[in-house]
Amino acid sequence: MTVRFWGVRGSIPTPLLPSQIHSRIAAVVQRIGPADIVSPEAREAFLAGLPPYLTGTVGGNTTCVEVRLDDGTLIIIDAGSGIAALGASLKRRREHVRHYHLFFSHFHWDHLQGLPFFSPPIFDPRCRITFYSPVEGFEDFLRGQMEPPYFPITMDAMTADLRFHVLTKPGIEVGAGRVESRRMKHPGGSYSYKITENGKSVIFSTDTELTEEDFQRNEENTSYFGNVTLLIMDSQYTLDEAVEKYEWGHSSYSLAVDFAAAWGIPTLVLFHHEPSYDDKKMFSILKSSRWYASHLEGKGVEIMLATEDMEVTI
Ligand SMILES: [Zn+2]
Ligand SMILES: [Zn+2]
Repeated sequence: MTVRFWGVRGSIPTPLLPSQIHSRIAAVVQRIGPADIVSPEAREAFLAGLPPYLTGTVGGNTTCVEVRLDDGTLIIIDAGSGIAALGASLKRRREHVRHYHLFFSHFHWDHLQGLPFFSPPIFDPRCRITFYSPVEGFEDFLRGQMEPPYFPITMDAMTADLRFHVLTKPGIEVGAGRVESRRMKHPGGSYSYKITENGKSVIFSTDTELTEEDFQRNEENTSYFGNVTLLIMDSQYTLDEAVEKYEWGHSSYSLAVDFAAAWGIPTLVLFHHEPSYDDKKMFSILKSSRWYASHLEGKGVEIMLATEDMEVTI
């Protein structure tokens, strides 16, 4: 299966500011030496040698992740502002998926604000969109926040065939895959999802404050967290912040690394980035996480930073 990241920011969309772009250009110009512009090859080499926080960005959209199963089934987790980019990409590629499976981690704004912008599918009567959540009555949450005065278009105007599926069992078959859920600590609760296909599993756990219970080696945890190929985990905070913001519902990147190592998960993607952190800070967090992971003896965890447009195939 392939995981694509369309929105990776926590809490609020975070566009790049004109002043940030200006200071990047200034930083690049300052680095240029005469030898860097003697040929097209030299220019390319110069660009390739620049730090990623000058040439790229983790992105500013809120949570939306696509999981494309090997059998073509399209699973989406959360409808933050990133889902608009997924819709635009489907349109650009002229891809006509007939059935979308959209799972919600929870119903905070940053996880559903993009829903009415999931165009074209949500306004295409030929498309079916099945929404899933373990929360009883979640259809009312979605409909309620899309009524005037909060939003001018109600869900009745969304002409796709919308279905609402309350997850009452721990697992459900979707296409050739299986999706399981587990409640995580977050104000009001949040659900992580584990998607398994062809013997490989990804866990997506945003808006999660990891607790000691998540590390316990009981049967339930071992069945859920054991034997996982890829973990996408909330790592919004630095260690200092996690202490200061205890009970706010997010994890530190170091705890996310500890967790991946504890469960023998080979690859960790840091997710739900703090909106006040710029790209330089985000890449320094990646570096610190890798440094930290390298000091956990014998438990090599590969760490990536979730960035928009990134694809990971497992
Ligand atoms: Zn969030
Ligand atoms: Zn939340």
